[in-house]
Amino acid sequence: MVEGVEVSTDHLVGGERLASSDRFSDVSPIDEQVIAEVARGDADTVDLAVAAADGAADAWGRTPPKERAAVLHRIADGVESRIEELSVVETRDNGSLLRSHRRSVMPRVARNFRFFADKLLELEDEGGDTTFNGNRERVTWDPSGVTAVIGPWNAPLMLATWRIAPALAAGNAVVHKPPEWAPLTASLLGDIALEAGLVPGAYNVVQGMGEEAGAALVANPGVTRIAFTGSVETGRLVAAAAAANLTPTSLELGGKSPFLIFADADPDAALAQAVGQFDNAGQVCLAGTRLLIESSIYDDFLDRFAEATGRVVQGDPRDEATDIGPLISREHFDRVDGFVRAGHAEGSRALVGGGPNDDLGGLYYRPTLFVDVPRGSPLLTREVFGPVLTAQPFGDEAEAIALANETDYGLAATVYTGDEGRARRVGEQLVAGTVWVNCFFVRDLDAPFGGSRNSGIGREGGQWSFDFYADVKNVVTAPSSGG
Ligand code: NAD
Repeated sequence: MVEGVEVSTDHLVGGERLASSDRFSDVSPIDEQVIAEVARGDADTVDLAVAAADGAADAWGRTPPKERAAVLHRIADGVESRIEELSVVETRDNGSLLRSHRRSVMPRVARNFRFFADKLLELEDEGGDTTFNGNRERVTWDPSGVTAVIGPWNAPLMLATWRIAPALAAGNAVVHKPPEWAPLTASLLGDIALEAGLVPGAYNVVQGMGEEAGAALVANPGVTRIAFTGSVETGRLVAAAAAANLTPTSLELGGKSPFLIFADADPDAALAQAVGQFDNAGQVCLAGTRLLIESSIYDDFLDRFAEATGRVVQGDPRDEATDIGPLISREHFDRVDGFVRAGHAEGSRALVGGGPNDDLGGLYYRPTLFVDVPRGSPLLTREVFGPVLTAQPFGDEAEAIALANETDYGLAATVYTGDEGRARRVGEQLVAGTVWVNCFFVRDLDAPFGGSRNSGIGREGGQWSFDFYADVKNVVTAPSSGG
């Protein structure tokens, strides 16, 4: 039991729970207490899960799209009926805000299933029927077999279902390796999927370590698609393993996104959104961690930023009043702290925060903003994945764009300006999969999502997802074929 919710800590293979003799301790970031001993899968477990998925893929893939869509909607119903359970377990497991899980994250999990169920039927209806030189061409999105889904701990169920839902909609079976730092909600999803009538074996969960179960899964020749979300470093390992089997791979990786604030921007809106970059203790791939501020408003903006950050409430993520919870683990805390210490040592100045939150102790880290950061500093070039931002002034549009693009990443960028022409010009020149103008985080699930440069390979969302998970086929029929 976790937070009063019954959660299986075993794998789910072929619709049955499967134990492992080895277990790993799942530690809550809220108080560093062990909350579960979870089955630790190995290559043999992965082989069993891939075989189970392969066995189920045919039946699930041949299930008519209407029925597949109905099952996905029933999974969404199941998620919606268990939002409270999913939320309390996820918060205990990864330390993200309970209020966010209840109000937006878990509803989005349900929406992932509903959206791709509806998209499947839309593609079926509209298809890709065209004619070419009198020939009929029909494009279909056929099931491709077994999809491996591997994801991070910062929004485990939401990010995983963003991949699981389209894979299932496309008629594939899934083997999911949840993050070892927050493995529990995947197990609850397994219960929900079975209750919803999903073919047993179409969704399998292998718990365990990335280097062990994860590595075995991406190297398994039975896997026909790999959907990986995580760090650039792990992404490279996954891509190398995938290369051996030529397994198509979608990589959603890290970011070091710029957040540009021009002097003509709405100052209050820009400020609120800039402070919002500390959300989830900065453990957000899309976070605009590099604030680029026009020189004429730089000092004033930073004064107001420091004041506003002082009002941010840090504490237990289960409290409604809390804005920022803890970091995920001691290991990650030390990594974040390493960046901050190195920042102090190189002469960067912490205008806000600059170390652990000693009042709270544990894994709570103060929201931190560095200024006067030397060019080339790791604070500007590497993803910290904690509540650590930098600020840099810029003189004009050209300098803003140059600084914004001075990174190996290209996941997202945010621009605050009151000038539409500038918004268009700047947006066109930023290297990023998503550019937000005077907003942040809003996104239609039908729109393409992914990263440029080291932030990833491929785009998902809407039809882009089906193009990846499915075997796309074009049947060309000559006019003389009758019918
Ligand atoms: P990570 O790369 O350490 O781990 C991600 C997953 O990969 C985990 O489930 C882990 O068990 C598994 N893994 C580890 N080694 C593996 C291997 N050799 N083979 C296969 N799988 C392996 O990342 P993390 O620390 O869990 O998450 C943080 C990272 O994720 C950040 O870089 C963040 O930006 C990124 N992220 C990206 C997006 C996006 O959509 N682009 C979203 C959220 C997080």
